[in-house]
Amino acid sequence: MTPEDQQTLLKVAQWIVTHRNTRRTIRQLAETEENYLLLIRELDRVERQCFRAHTLHAEATLTLVEWLEILNLFHWHCAYCHTGPFQVMSHRIPLLQAGTTAANCVPACYHCYRSHEKENKHADSY
Ligand SMILES: [Zn+2]
Repeated sequence: MTPEDQQTLLKVAQWIVTHRNTRRTIRQLAETEENYLLLIRELDRVERQCFRAHTLHAEATLTLVEWLEILNLFHWHCAYCHTGPFQVMSHRIPLLQAGTTAANCVPACYHCYRSHEKENKHADSY
């Protein structure tokens, strides 16, 4: 194992410890199990999408607060059809171009998400 790998493992272990403590506090603050599970789900989503953007050297500034405000703005429904339930985070402009930011992320249903991704791929090929 290289010293870099050892450093990475330590970094990840530290992250896990911090994360576990964070989750314990969130559970207390959320008051209900439903709120807690919802917050954790969205926190994971934001972190995952920011990590993805960061890995691709795109902007990764979206915070959980911004994401919840965006969800409230769309009443937790799909931003494209306004009727489907929110199921995934969608990047309006492809992630590589505009990153995971408050201006670029909207909630989507699976159906619209797939159509939107297809459109983006189509647009990218020109
Ligand atoms: Zn939709």
